[in-house]
Amino acid sequence: MMSQICRVNVATGQITYEDVPDGWVRLGGRALGARILLDEVPATCDPLGPHNKLIFAPGTLVGHMVSSCDRISVCGKSPLTGGVKEANAGGTTALKLVWLGIHALIIEGQPADPRDRYLLYLSKDEARLEPAPHLAGVGVHATAEQLLERFGPKVGLAMIGPAGEMRMTAAGIVHLDKDRVPGRISARGGLGAVMGSKGIKAIVIDDAGTKMPPLVDKKLFDDAKKRYIKSLQEHPQTSQIYTYYGTPAMVSMCNAKGGIPTRNFSAGRFEHAERISGEMLHDLISERGGEGVHDHACMPGCIIRCSNVFADSNGKTIVSPLEYETIGLLGSNLGIDSLDVIGQLNVQANDLGLDSIEIGAA
Ligand code: SF4
Repeated sequence: MMSQICRVNVATGQITYEDVPDGWVRLGGRALGARILLDEVPATCDPLGPHNKLIFAPGTLVGHMVSSCDRISVCGKSPLTGGVKEANAGGTTALKLVWLGIHALIIEGQPADPRDRYLLYLSKDEARLEPAPHLAGVGVHATAEQLLERFGPKVGLAMIGPAGEMRMTAAGIVHLDKDRVPGRISARGGLGAVMGSKGIKAIVIDDAGTKMPPLVDKKLFDDAKKRYIKSLQEHPQTSQIYTYYGTPAMVSMCNAKGGIPTRNFSAGRFEHAERISGEMLHDLISERGGEGVHDHACMPGCIIRCSNVFADSNGKTIVSPLEYETIGLLGSNLGIDSLDVIGQLNVQANDLGLDSIEIGAA
């Protein structure tokens, strides 16, 4: 199956599949997104107007469950910076788009009524836009629950929360992880507001009946994959530090170097850094047990497993994952030294569809 460009015009309701232009064939991820922006979006357009486009561009290696490679780049002109924006996330969105044969998904135009909400459904047999007024103003967690109930537990979802619907410049786009938790976020640059301006509340990616895309030289690919995995397994950063502590390992490192955001960037060292460190997170998860996991994989095939599930003292999940950037911006940058408080702020930001970095730096 040749992959194609799926183009959705929310002004006309038309959805078309096109051959991939020659200049886009060997591009993926942020390179493809930037190329499409250069080719199709006027540089001076209003980021929240009809001439901006929202582009979902899987990376070139997506589709084969090579460790950590099945990532999605969401691209558009940023309403936050006015520049080219790419917001990258793990989870399952990219894998499912590629299995549907989609090289890039381009959403363009604008609905006549800014209050309109739509659901975009993509499967191997069908692509449709359907009105979704019942999802207006609904949080990300409840939206995911409703859509998984309706479409089944195996679909992928990319959603916005109330923040994206309100076109807030801190709004992101939330994807499901491999355990159907809406916690992987294309957070930066306000692309959730661009999705909101297109009237799209959620994209349902149903890859039932599809299979892994063919490889030109499977043996060569598998040999390279083996060497890549071996190098990840042999390197202490990817086989120990990120697996034990995840990205929160950066708390102690950045604090030691004087670079952790502290009290609105007025300092680079936080006196309570050890209370919000990766080591503390690892110990709390291990001691509390229950649903907590310190070496969680956000997508199939990942052997680094830098993600986590952070549980409270009763073993019930607070949030998944709790990352360095969130700890730095919603923690030390606000003078907060409790992982439980940071986790609670994080899950609320996720439900609203907000970028925790932007909120902590606001
Ligand atoms: S768990 Fe971490 S290392 Fe693995 S794919 Fe997700 S973000 Fe990448």
